[in-house]
Amino acid sequence: MSKRLYIQTVGCQMNVLDSELVAADLLRAGYELVDSPRKADTILFNTCSVRQHAEDKIYSALGRLKRIKDRHPQKIVGVLGCMAQKDRQGIFHRAPHVDLVVGPGQLGRLPALLERIAAGEGPLLEVSLDRNAGNRVSVQQSFERHDPLRIAETRPTPYQAMVRIMFGCDKFCTYCVVPSVRGPEQSRPAEEIEAEVRGLADQGCLEVTLLGQTVNSYRDDRGRKLRLADLLLRLDAVEGLRRLKFVTNHPRHVSDELLQAVRDLPKVSPYLHVPAQSGSDRILRRMKRGYTAEAYREMLCRIRETIPEVAITSDFIVGFPGETDEDFDRTIALLREGRFKNSFIFKYSPRPKTKAVELYADDVPDEVKRRRNNELLAIQNAISLRDNQPLVGRSVEILVEGPSKAGRKQPDNGHVVQLGGRTVDDRIVVFDGPPRLAGQILAVEIEKVDAFTLFGRIR
Ligand code: SF4
Repeated sequence: MSKRLYIQTVGCQMNVLDSELVAADLLRAGYELVDSPRKADTILFNTCSVRQHAEDKIYSALGRLKRIKDRHPQKIVGVLGCMAQKDRQGIFHRAPHVDLVVGPGQLGRLPALLERIAAGEGPLLEVSLDRNAGNRVSVQQSFERHDPLRIAETRPTPYQAMVRIMFGCDKFCTYCVVPSVRGPEQSRPAEEIEAEVRGLADQGCLEVTLLGQTVNSYRDDRGRKLRLADLLLRLDAVEGLRRLKFVTNHPRHVSDELLQAVRDLPKVSPYLHVPAQSGSDRILRRMKRGYTAEAYREMLCRIRETIPEVAITSDFIVGFPGETDEDFDRTIALLREGRFKNSFIFKYSPRPKTKAVELYADDVPDEVKRRRNNELLAIQNAISLRDNQPLVGRSVEILVEGPSKAGRKQPDNGHVVQLGGRTVDDRIVVFDGPPRLAGQILAVEIEKVDAFTLFGRIR
C-alpha cells in the first residue's frame, strides 16, 4: 500500500506539537507527507474542542471528504485529538466514512492502528477513560504518553521546537473542556525533558518553547522536588540552545523563584503569557479561576518589579454567562492597567461536558459578545502600538524564522525576499533579506511599527 499522509491541525500549540510527533512516527514507518487530501492515502485531522467553531470546521472538512472517500474507499480517514476524545462514537454517527477515532492519549498507537485498518479492520475507536470513569491512577494511565524521538523535517522550522513538559490539567475552569479531553495533570521527569532538549540542540535547534496547559505548575516530585524554575536552570545549561520560552502560565503559580529564574538565566526569554480571562471577581468566581482581579494585579506588579523589561501577554473571555456591563468595565480596567504586549480575546462559547454549561445559561446575546470583543480588541491594539513605538530607531536581536507570509508569495530565487523573525520577547519582526538567513540570530534596526509587527532592516 502506498503511504502518502496528509495531516491537518486545528487548535493550540499542544496540537501542533502532537501533529509533529504523529508525522514523525509515521515518517519513520515509511509514510511521506503530502500537501492536500486529494494526493493522500491517509488523511488525518488533529482536532480541537475548545470552541464550537473549531469543531464545526472539522465536521465540514469531513463532510467535504465524503465524495472523495466514496470514489476511493481505500483511503483512510482519521480524527485525532480533543474532539475524538470528546465525541468518540458520535463522530462515526455524524461522519460514517471515518475509519479511525483516536484521542490525544493514544496517538502513539497510530502506526499500528493504521496498519490494522489497511488490513481490513475498522472502523476503530481508541480513547482514554472519562475523568469520572475510574480512580485517578487508572484515568491517568489511560492517557498514554507519546514523546518519540524528534525529526527536524516535521517541525515548522528546524531552529525552533516545542517540548511538552506536562500533560492534562486539574484546574477545571468552568468553561474549559481541556481537563476532560486531555486528562489529569501529569509532569514529565526532568531528565527526560533535558534529554529531549539536548537532542534538539544537537539537531541545530536554537529556540525551545516548553508547553503545558498550566506550565508553571510543573512538578517533578521524585527525589528532590523540582519546579519549573529548577527545570529552566537545567535547560539553560544545554549547549547550543540560545532561547527558552514557556507557555501557558496560570496566575496562581507565578512564584518569585520562577520570576527570578526568568530574570537571571540568560537563555530564558523575558516573556510571560498569563491569561487573566476577566477583570471582574464575580465572573472569575463563576469561571472558577481561583484568583481575584486584585491578586492578578498584585502578580503583575511582582512580575514588573522583578523583570522590568518583561513582555506580558494575556487572554480574555468576553460574554461569559452573567457578564454585565459593570463586569465588562472591570475587564477593560484590568486590560488597560495590564499594559499587555498583546491579548487574545475570545467570545464565550458554551462547551458540552463543562460545568459552565451545567450551571449557567449562555445569556449574553451574541451581538453583545461581538461588541465587547471588538471594544476590548481596539483598546488592546492601541496599547500594543504604544508598547511597540519605543522600539523605533532601536536595534533588536531576532531569530530569523524564514520568509514571512508575504515573502512566501515572492519568487524564491535566492535573492532578497521579506523575511520574518521574532525578538527574544516574542515580537514579530519583518525585514528584507536573502532566505539563507533563516535560522540565524542577528540584529535588525526597527524603522516603523504597527500594533502587531515591527518593520526593520538588517544593520
Ligand atoms: S487552567 Fe483552566 S483554562 Fe487552562 S487548560 Fe486548565 S481548565 Fe482549561
